[in-house]
Amino acid sequence: MTATMLDGRALAGELTRAVADDVKRLARRGRTPHLVSILAQEDAAAEQYVRRQRQKCRELGIKYTLFHMSDDTSEEELAAHVDMLNANPTVTGIIVQLPTPEAINATRVQGRILPSKDVEGMAPANLGNLLAGQRGLAPCTALAVMELIRLSGVALRGREVTVIGHSRIVGQPLALLMLQEDATVTSCHIHTQDLAAHTRRADVVVSAVGRPAILKGDMLRPGAVVIDVGISEVVVEGKRHTVGDVEFDSARHVAGFISPVPGGVGPVTVAMLLRNTVKAAMGE
Ligand code: NAD
Repeated sequence: MTATMLDGRALAGELTRAVADDVKRLARRGRTPHLVSILAQEDAAAEQYVRRQRQKCRELGIKYTLFHMSDDTSEEELAAHVDMLNANPTVTGIIVQLPTPEAINATRVQGRILPSKDVEGMAPANLGNLLAGQRGLAPCTALAVMELIRLSGVALRGREVTVIGHSRIVGQPLALLMLQEDATVTSCHIHTQDLAAHTRRADVVVSAVGRPAILKGDMLRPGAVVIDVGISEVVVEGKRHTVGDVEFDSARHVAGFISPVPGGVGPVTVAMLLRNTVKAAMGE
């Protein structure tokens, strides 16, 4: 068996076209979404993410502003900046990029973003809405995983799902979204005793850890849907490569569907950020 590839780039293209239509609808009502991103620390991955945000916003006609704060910015200064953006009615979306300098409690600062402008869906109020079953602005990566599963055509109701990773921004919100679609969800994490026992019985396995090859072909049920959220850098023969959590070569012979890294969850996550940005601007 060779798994069907879940092409995140193609899916992101489709989802982004729908967002572009919404931007045009807003423009006809005289409104332009305005996303503001705050970068409080030099970081290669965050800078790459910011470049991608800016390029996509430009393509869609979303106004984009980047605030590059200095490395010695204090938590009070960053919080004051967030407060100023919260109060500005022309700003419709705010992102505080991670990581932040050590002296800053990122969770506290992100929690200051008005829930209605929290386009990454990470503020406690938005996570609470998710638990309450009210779809406000949910975390983009969890939404991206749900879109890739939808692309596979496998309906989650009654299925066994195993999510590896239980972070507040990926694994936990994802488990909630899947429960809301009536899946039977198992959440695994660093203290899980026998990971393979949980992954082998699953119809859908999502890995969000950040450890290359933590999920291998012999840990999968034949035909399973495998979604790889992990991102790691490895050096092979002196060259840097981005890889996921899944040992792709062994997994693709067992899985029914598999999302690659790169080109899987990553581009769809950006599409979800754009969708949340427009949703926030529409006041939904
Ligand atoms: P995190 O470090 O906050 O959480 C990692 C999770 O993995 C934890 O729940 C931990 O318990 C679990 N874990 C660690 N070692 C384990 C092991 N040996 N067995 C089972 N579970 C184990 O990370 P995060 O922010 O949730 O991100 C996870 C990965 O997803 C990272 O590689 C990150 O770069 C990637 N990511 C990708 C996107 C995207 O858009 N593609 C977005 C966010 C995060």
